[in-house]
Amino acid sequence: MTTSDPEPVQIREVLSVRRAVCPGSFDPVTNGHIDIVQRAASLFDEVVVAVGINKSKNRLFTAEERMEMLSQAVAHLPNVKVDGFSGLLTAFCQEHDIHAIVKGLRAVTDFDYELQMAQMNSSLADVETVFVPTSPEYSFLASSLVKEVAAFGGDVSSLVPPFVHQRLTARLKEKAAE
Ligand code: ADP
Repeated sequence: MTTSDPEPVQIREVLSVRRAVCPGSFDPVTNGHIDIVQRAASLFDEVVVAVGINKSKNRLFTAEERMEMLSQAVAHLPNVKVDGFSGLLTAFCQEHDIHAIVKGLRAVTDFDYELQMAQMNSSLADVETVFVPTSPEYSFLASSLVKEVAAFGGDVSSLVPPFVHQRLTARLKEKAAE
C-alpha cells in the first residue's frame, strides 16, 4: 500500500451496501405504494418492503396474501424483496443491517405523525427516515380508502394493479356474502 492509497475504512464505506426498508400494512398494495418502492429502489442498493404482520389489526387480507400481492407487484424490481415484520420496526432494521426507512408523504396530515415516528425511531436505533413526496396523481390514495370505495361499488381499477383489483373484488364479494 502506498501513501496515496485510501484508508481501509474508506474502502469499507464505499463497498458497503446501502439498504432501505419501506414499511407498511399494504392491505392491499396500491399504485401509490409501488411508486414509492420504485423510487426507493432507484435511491438505494437494496430495498426490503416490510409488511406489518401484527395479528391484532383488523385486515381484509392475511399477511401471506399481502406479501404475495406485493411480491408480484415489485417482481420487475431486481433489488427489491418482500419480508414480514412484527414488533418494532427498528428491531427489524437492526436484524437486517438496515439504516434507512423510506416513507411516502401524501399531505401535511401525514407529516405530524411521520415526523414523530421518525424521531422516535432514530432515538431507538441507528436509523434515518427518508421522506419521499407522493407523486401528485397518488396524493389522495390510501389502502383504507380504496377498500371503502370498492366496498360501495366504486371503480378503483386505476388505483391498484389489475391482479390486486381482481382479488379485492373477490374478497369483498366473499365478505358481503358472510
Ligand atoms: P395506507 O393504508 O395509508 O396505504 P400503509 O401502511 O399500507 O398505509 O402504507 C405504508 C406507507 O406507504 C405509508 O406510510 C406511506 O409512507 C406510503 N404510502 C401509502 N400510500 C401512498 C401514496 N399514495 N403516496 C405516497 N406514499 C404512500
